[in-house]
Amino acid sequence: MLQLYLNIRKLDRITTELRNIKLLNQTKNKKPTAEEIQKEFEEFIKHKYGGTVRFVQQPPPNIELNEQDTQSQKKIDLKFDLKPKEVKQYLDRYVIKQYEAKKALAIAVCDHYNHVRKCHENPKLLETDYSKQNIIVLGSTGVGKTYMIRHIAKLIGVPFVKADATRFSETGYVGANVEDLIRDLVTQADGNLELAQYGIVYIDEADKLATPPNIIGRDISGRGVQFGLLKLMEETEVDLKSGSDPAAQVKAAIEFQQKGEIEEQVINTRHILFIMSGAFNGLSDIIEKRLNWKSIGFSIEGRNQQRSIDLLAEITSKDFIDFGFEPEFIGRIPIRVVCEDLEAEDLYYILKNSEGSIIKQYEQSFQAYDVEAMFSDASLHQIAVLAHHQKTGARALMTVCEKVLRDYKFELPSSPIKEFAVTKEVVNDPKGELERITTNQEYNSRLVFQERIRRYEGDFQEKHKMKIQFDQEATEMIYARFISNQQEPREICDEILESYQHGLSLIKQNTGKSDFTFTKSVVEDPDEVLEGWIRESYNEKSKESR
Ligand code: ADP
Repeated sequence: MLQLYLNIRKLDRITTELRNIKLLNQTKNKKPTAEEIQKEFEEFIKHKYGGTVRFVQQPPPNIELNEQDTQSQKKIDLKFDLKPKEVKQYLDRYVIKQYEAKKALAIAVCDHYNHVRKCHENPKLLETDYSKQNIIVLGSTGVGKTYMIRHIAKLIGVPFVKADATRFSETGYVGANVEDLIRDLVTQADGNLELAQYGIVYIDEADKLATPPNIIGRDISGRGVQFGLLKLMEETEVDLKSGSDPAAQVKAAIEFQQKGEIEEQVINTRHILFIMSGAFNGLSDIIEKRLNWKSIGFSIEGRNQQRSIDLLAEITSKDFIDFGFEPEFIGRIPIRVVCEDLEAEDLYYILKNSEGSIIKQYEQSFQAYDVEAMFSDASLHQIAVLAHHQKTGARALMTVCEKVLRDYKFELPSSPIKEFAVTKEVVNDPKGELERITTNQEYNSRLVFQERIRRYEGDFQEKHKMKIQFDQEATEMIYARFISNQQEPREICDEILESYQHGLSLIKQNTGKSDFTFTKSVVEDPDEVLEGWIRESYNEKSKESR
C-alpha cells in the first residue's frame, strides 16, 4: 500500500488547482474545511487507484529552524498554534482507544506549549505563577503510553528522549545520571540547544522509583533518583559537558588545546516537559482502601479492569505518597492520565485501522521482493486473539506476526509466488499453509482471488454504506470467469454490479434494507434479479403506507 503524505496547508492550494482543471467537484460560495478537502482527495485517489494508494494528512511541524544560523545556535520559530482537538484528532489516526488519555494529554501538551510560545515571544515574561504541566501516565504494558507521547513530540516538532527509570542511580556512578537525559535531548535535537530546551523527556517504569515506607531493607536509591528528577523538573542548568562522560572529557581537552579555553554550554530545563509512566500495580488497592469502596457486585474480571480504571480516576497525591513517592516529587507532576487495557477487539482495530499498523510494515517488506501479501480480515481477528492471550498489550501483535510469517519472509522472496493471502488458516497453521501454497499454484491463486472478492465487497460497503456479499456459489462462478477470460476480479464484479449501486440505493430508500447477499442468479442475470428486487421493494413500501 502506497501512502501519500500531504501538508494540509499545501492541500488547500492543490484543491483549488484541481478544481480549476475540474478534477474535483466545485463547492460554490463555500470555503471547504480541512476534513472536506481530505475527503474529496481520498475519493479522487480511490477512484483513480482503487485501494492501493492511501491518503494521509501530514500536519506541518510547529517548530521551524532558521537556516542561516549555525546548528548549535540556530534560532527557532516556535509557532505552536495547535488546539487540543487537533492534537487528539492527530493521535486518533495512530492510537486506538485511550480516548480519555488522548484528551487529557492533548490539553496538557497544548497548555504547556502555549505557555512556552508566550515565553519564547516575550522572554521577559514573569513565570512565577505558572506551574509546569508535567504528566504521569498510568497503564499496563503495551497499551500505547510511549506511542502517544512519541507522536505528540513528532507533531510538535520537538526532540523526544525515553529512558527506563531503572537505568538511573542517585550518584550516576553505577547507573546513568538523570542529567544525561537532558544531554540526550541535545543529541536528538541535532545539537540545537534552543530546540532541546523545548523537548520532551519520557521516563518509563517510574513506579520502580517508589520506596514504600513500610517495606524494610528496600533499596533507597529510587528516592535519590526522585530528587535528581525533581531538580530537573523545577528548573536547573545542565552542563553539556558531563563530568562522567569520557567522550565529553576528551572533546573538552581538545577544545582547550585549540582555543585555550572551554566554552561553557548549558541547557536550561525550565521548558522541558517531563512525562513519567508505569503500570503502578497495587496503586488501585491503595485508592480502594482510602475510599473504602466495597467490592461486592464486581466479578473478578470487572474488578481487574473497569474497577481499576474507575479507582485510578479518583487518584490523589496522597495515594502516590502512600505508594512510595516523595511529596515534592509528585507535587511537580500535576497531570494524571490513565490508559485502559486493550481487548482483543482493540488489537484487531490497531492492525486494521491504525496508520502505524505493523501490517503495513509486513506488506512493505514483502513488496520489496515484489510479493503482494494480502491480509484477510479473518486473519487480523485471529492474530488479535492470539496476541491478546499473551497479556502484553499491542506489543504481542509483533510477536505473533513474526512467528506466523517468518518462514514466508524466508521462502517467498526466492519462490515464483508473486501474491498470497494471509488467511485465518495461515495464522493457525503457518507451516502447513506455506507448504500448500508453494506446491499447489491453483490453491494459492484461488485464495488470492477470494481475498480480492472480499476486498471488493469491503470497498463497496465503505463507498456506498451498504453491505454486499457474494455467496460461495456466486464466488465460484466469478472464479470460473476469472480463469477463462483472464479478467481481473474487480472488473468482473464491476460488470456484474453495473446498475446495482443505484438499484440497491432505491431498495434501501424503500425498505431500509442495507445488507445484500448475491447468489448464483445475480452473476448469471444481474439485471433481471435487480429489477425483481426493486419491484418487491416498491410493493413492500406501498403495503407499509397502507
Ligand atoms: P507502553 O504502553 O508500554 O509504553 P507502547 O506505547 O510502547 O507501550 O506500545 C508498543 C507498540 O504497540 C507501539 O509502538 C504501537 O505500535 C503499538 N500500540 C500500543 N498501544 C497502541 C494503541 N492504543 N493504538 C495503536 N497502537 C498501539
